[in-house]
Amino acid sequence: MSSISPAYSGSLFIVAAPSGAGKSTLVNALLALEPGIKLSISTTTRPPRPGEVDGREYFFTTAKDFVARAERGEFLEWAEVHGNYYGTSRLTVEQEMKNGTDILLEIDWQGARQVKKQFPSAAGIFILPPSIAALEERLYKRGTDEPHIITRRLLAAGGEMAHAPEFEYAIINEEFNVALAELQAIVKATRCRFAQQAARNAVLFAQLGIHAQHQS
Ligand code: 5GP
Repeated sequence: MSSISPAYSGSLFIVAAPSGAGKSTLVNALLALEPGIKLSISTTTRPPRPGEVDGREYFFTTAKDFVARAERGEFLEWAEVHGNYYGTSRLTVEQEMKNGTDILLEIDWQGARQVKKQFPSAAGIFILPPSIAALEERLYKRGTDEPHIITRRLLAAGGEMAHAPEFEYAIINEEFNVALAELQAIVKATRCRFAQQAARNAVLFAQLGIHAQHQS
Protein backbone atom coordinates (compact mmCIF):
# COMPACT_ATOMS: atom_id res chain seq x y z
CA MET A 1 0.00 0.00 0.00
CA SER A 2 1.53 3.35 -0.93
CA SER A 3 0.15 6.71 0.12
CA ILE A 4 -1.52 8.83 -2.54
CA SER A 5 0.51 11.87 -1.57
CA PRO A 6 4.09 10.92 -0.77
CA ALA A 7 6.33 13.64 0.66
CA TYR A 8 8.42 13.48 -2.49
CA SER A 9 6.84 14.19 -5.84
CA GLY A 10 10.06 13.57 -7.79
CA SER A 11 11.03 10.07 -8.86
CA LEU A 12 14.30 8.49 -7.84
CA PHE A 13 16.33 6.37 -10.26
CA ILE A 14 19.33 4.28 -9.27
CA VAL A 15 21.63 3.14 -12.07
CA ALA A 16 24.39 0.66 -11.30
CA ALA A 17 26.77 -1.34 -13.48
CA PRO A 18 30.25 -2.80 -13.44
CA SER A 19 32.95 -0.44 -14.76
CA GLY A 20 33.01 -0.64 -18.55
CA ALA A 21 29.33 -1.53 -19.09
CA GLY A 22 28.78 1.88 -20.69
CA LYS A 23 26.72 3.30 -17.83
CA SER A 24 27.89 6.92 -17.97
CA THR A 25 27.47 7.18 -21.76
CA LEU A 26 23.95 5.77 -21.49
CA VAL A 27 23.05 8.03 -18.58
CA ASN A 28 24.37 11.13 -20.35
CA ALA A 29 22.32 10.29 -23.45
CA LEU A 30 19.25 9.75 -21.25
CA LEU A 31 19.73 13.14 -19.59
CA ALA A 32 19.86 14.80 -23.01
CA LEU A 33 16.52 13.15 -23.91
CA GLU A 34 14.93 13.75 -20.50
CA PRO A 35 15.98 17.19 -19.24
CA GLY A 36 13.61 16.85 -16.27
CA ILE A 37 16.03 14.41 -14.64
CA LYS A 38 18.94 15.72 -12.58
CA LEU A 39 22.06 13.67 -12.08
CA SER A 40 23.20 13.70 -8.45
CA ILE A 41 26.87 14.67 -8.20
CA SER A 42 28.60 12.42 -5.70
CA THR A 43 31.45 13.26 -3.37
CA THR A 44 34.53 11.06 -3.69
CA THR A 45 38.03 10.63 -2.32
CA ARG A 46 39.20 9.27 -5.70
CA PRO A 47 41.68 11.60 -7.40
CA PRO A 48 40.24 13.39 -10.45
CA ARG A 49 40.92 11.76 -13.83
CA PRO A 50 42.33 13.96 -16.57
CA GLY A 51 39.54 16.25 -17.78
CA GLU A 52 37.35 15.80 -14.71
CA VAL A 53 36.24 19.02 -13.04
CA ASP A 54 35.44 19.45 -9.34
CA GLY A 55 31.68 19.96 -9.01
CA ARG A 56 30.91 18.55 -12.47
CA GLU A 57 31.77 14.81 -12.45
CA TYR A 58 32.28 14.67 -8.68
CA PHE A 59 33.01 16.80 -5.66
CA PHE A 60 36.55 15.70 -4.86
CA THR A 61 37.63 15.66 -1.25
CA THR A 62 40.01 14.09 1.28
CA ALA A 63 39.32 10.91 3.24
CA LYS A 64 39.39 12.92 6.49
CA ASP A 65 36.71 15.33 5.31
CA PHE A 66 34.63 12.48 3.83
CA VAL A 67 34.64 10.46 7.04
CA ALA A 68 33.70 13.51 9.12
CA ARG A 69 30.76 14.21 6.83
CA ALA A 70 29.67 10.56 6.87
CA GLU A 71 29.72 10.65 10.68
CA ARG A 72 27.54 13.77 10.64
CA GLY A 73 25.00 11.85 8.53
CA GLU A 74 25.39 14.12 5.52
CA PHE A 75 25.28 11.22 3.07
CA LEU A 76 22.07 9.51 2.02
CA GLU A 77 24.35 6.58 1.27
CA TRP A 78 28.06 6.02 1.01
CA ALA A 79 30.41 3.15 0.22
CA GLU A 80 33.99 2.21 -0.41
CA VAL A 81 34.40 1.26 -4.06
CA HIS A 82 37.72 0.23 -5.66
CA GLY A 83 39.59 1.57 -2.60
CA ASN A 84 37.98 5.02 -2.54
CA TYR A 85 34.97 6.49 -0.74
CA TYR A 86 31.92 7.67 -2.67
CA GLY A 87 28.79 9.26 -1.21
CA THR A 88 25.51 10.95 -2.16
CA SER A 89 24.43 14.20 -0.53
CA ARG A 90 21.27 13.63 1.50
CA LEU A 91 20.24 17.29 1.53
CA THR A 92 20.49 17.80 -2.23
CA VAL A 93 18.54 14.66 -3.11
CA GLU A 94 15.78 15.24 -0.56
CA GLN A 95 15.34 18.91 -1.46
CA GLU A 96 15.23 18.28 -5.21
CA MET A 97 12.73 15.44 -4.83
CA LYS A 98 10.49 17.53 -2.58
CA ASN A 99 10.49 20.16 -5.32
CA GLY A 100 9.33 17.54 -7.81
CA THR A 101 12.64 17.06 -9.60
CA ASP A 102 13.51 13.54 -10.71
CA ILE A 103 16.92 12.46 -9.49
CA LEU A 104 19.24 9.86 -10.94
CA LEU A 105 21.95 8.28 -8.82
CA GLU A 106 24.87 6.57 -10.54
CA ILE A 107 26.05 4.47 -7.61
CA ASP A 108 27.22 0.96 -6.77
CA TRP A 109 25.15 -1.93 -5.33
CA GLN A 110 26.11 -1.11 -1.73
CA GLY A 111 24.76 2.41 -2.09
CA ALA A 112 21.70 1.16 -3.97
CA ARG A 113 20.83 -1.09 -1.03
CA GLN A 114 21.03 1.82 1.42
CA VAL A 115 18.87 4.03 -0.82
CA LYS A 116 16.21 1.34 -1.33
CA LYS A 117 15.84 1.04 2.44
CA GLN A 118 15.01 4.74 2.66
CA PHE A 119 13.17 5.07 -0.67
CA PRO A 120 11.54 1.70 -1.44
CA SER A 121 9.87 3.15 -4.55
CA ALA A 122 13.21 4.12 -6.14
CA ALA A 123 13.61 2.42 -9.51
CA GLY A 124 16.77 0.30 -9.46
CA ILE A 125 18.27 -0.29 -12.91
CA PHE A 126 21.30 -2.50 -13.55
CA ILE A 127 23.27 -2.15 -16.79
CA LEU A 128 24.95 -5.35 -17.99
CA PRO A 129 27.60 -5.78 -20.69
CA PRO A 130 26.84 -8.20 -23.55
CA SER A 131 29.95 -10.23 -22.60
CA ILE A 132 33.00 -10.20 -20.32
CA ALA A 133 35.18 -9.57 -23.39
CA ALA A 134 33.18 -6.44 -24.22
CA LEU A 135 33.63 -5.19 -20.67
CA GLU A 136 37.39 -5.62 -20.86
CA GLU A 137 37.60 -3.98 -24.27
CA ARG A 138 35.63 -0.92 -23.12
CA LEU A 139 37.82 -0.45 -20.06
CA TYR A 140 41.01 -0.51 -22.12
CA LYS A 141 39.59 1.70 -24.89
CA ARG A 142 38.48 4.32 -22.37
CA GLY A 143 42.15 4.85 -21.58
CA THR A 144 41.41 6.84 -18.45
CA ASP A 145 42.83 4.38 -15.92
CA GLU A 146 46.23 2.80 -15.30
CA PRO A 147 46.48 -0.94 -16.26
CA HIS A 148 46.61 -2.06 -12.61
CA ILE A 149 43.45 -0.05 -11.90
CA ILE A 150 41.74 -1.69 -14.89
CA THR A 151 42.69 -5.14 -13.57
CA ARG A 152 41.23 -4.22 -10.19
CA ARG A 153 38.00 -2.99 -11.79
CA LEU A 154 37.66 -6.15 -13.90
CA LEU A 155 38.06 -8.31 -10.82
CA ALA A 156 35.43 -6.21 -9.06
CA ALA A 157 33.00 -6.48 -12.01
CA GLY A 158 32.00 -10.04 -11.08
CA GLY A 159 31.30 -8.97 -7.51
CA GLU A 160 29.17 -6.04 -8.67
CA MET A 161 27.20 -8.17 -11.14
CA ALA A 162 26.46 -10.76 -8.45
CA HIS A 163 24.17 -8.09 -6.95
CA ALA A 164 22.26 -7.40 -10.19
CA PRO A 165 19.27 -9.51 -8.97
CA GLU A 166 18.65 -6.90 -6.24
CA PHE A 167 17.56 -4.41 -8.92
CA GLU A 168 14.11 -4.19 -10.54
CA TYR A 169 15.36 -3.71 -14.08
CA ALA A 170 18.20 -5.16 -16.16
CA ILE A 171 19.43 -3.60 -19.38
CA ILE A 172 21.92 -5.42 -21.61
CA ASN A 173 24.01 -2.76 -23.32
CA GLU A 174 24.76 -4.49 -26.62
CA GLU A 175 23.16 -2.07 -29.09
CA PHE A 176 23.50 1.41 -27.62
CA ASN A 177 20.26 2.76 -29.11
CA VAL A 178 18.24 -0.23 -27.93
CA ALA A 179 19.66 0.08 -24.42
CA LEU A 180 18.95 3.81 -24.40
CA ALA A 181 15.35 3.28 -25.53
CA GLU A 182 14.89 0.71 -22.78
CA LEU A 183 16.30 3.08 -20.17
CA GLN A 184 13.98 5.85 -21.34
CA ALA A 185 11.01 3.45 -21.25
CA ILE A 186 11.77 2.61 -17.62
CA VAL A 187 11.91 6.33 -16.78
CA LYS A 188 8.56 6.97 -18.45
CA ALA A 189 6.89 3.97 -16.81
CA THR A 190 8.21 4.97 -13.38
CA ARG A 191 6.82 8.46 -13.80
CA CYS A 192 3.41 6.96 -14.58
CA ARG A 193 3.27 4.97 -11.36
CA PHE A 194 0.03 5.82 -9.64
CA ALA A 195 1.61 7.29 -6.52
CA GLN A 196 3.99 9.47 -8.57
CA GLN A 197 1.18 10.77 -10.77
CA ALA A 198 -0.93 11.51 -7.71
CA ALA A 199 1.91 13.41 -6.04
CA ARG A 200 2.65 15.47 -9.14
CA ASN A 201 -1.01 16.15 -9.95
CA ALA A 202 -2.53 16.51 -6.48
CA VAL A 203 -5.00 19.24 -7.54
CA LEU A 204 -6.26 17.33 -10.55
CA PHE A 205 -6.63 14.12 -8.58
CA ALA A 206 -8.64 15.98 -5.92
CA GLN A 207 -10.84 17.55 -8.62
CA LEU A 208 -11.42 14.09 -10.06
CA GLY A 209 -12.49 12.89 -6.64
CA ILE A 210 -9.59 10.45 -6.27
CA HIS A 211 -8.73 10.40 -2.58
CA ALA A 212 -8.46 6.75 -1.65
CA GLN A 213 -5.19 5.04 -1.01
CA HIS A 214 -3.82 3.18 -3.96
CA GLN A 215 -2.96 -0.51 -3.75
CA SER A 216 0.46 -0.79 -5.44
P1 5GP B 1 34.32 5.90 -10.99
O1 5GP B 1 35.52 5.97 -10.11
O2 5GP B 1 34.57 5.02 -12.20
O3 5GP B 1 33.78 7.23 -11.36
O4 5GP B 1 33.17 5.16 -10.15
C1 5GP B 1 33.43 3.92 -9.57
C2 5GP B 1 32.17 3.33 -8.99
O5 5GP B 1 31.71 4.11 -7.90
C3 5GP B 1 31.01 3.21 -9.96
O6 5GP B 1 30.46 1.90 -9.83
C4 5GP B 1 30.04 4.22 -9.47
O7 5GP B 1 28.71 3.83 -9.73
C5 5GP B 1 30.31 4.22 -8.00
N1 5GP B 1 29.86 5.47 -7.38
C6 5GP B 1 29.97 6.74 -7.86
N2 5GP B 1 29.42 7.62 -7.03
C7 5GP B 1 28.92 6.91 -5.98
C8 5GP B 1 28.21 7.25 -4.79
O8 5GP B 1 27.90 8.40 -4.50
N3 5GP B 1 27.88 6.23 -3.96
C9 5GP B 1 28.18 4.93 -4.22
N4 5GP B 1 27.78 4.01 -3.35
N5 5GP B 1 28.84 4.56 -5.34
C10 5GP B 1 29.20 5.54 -6.21
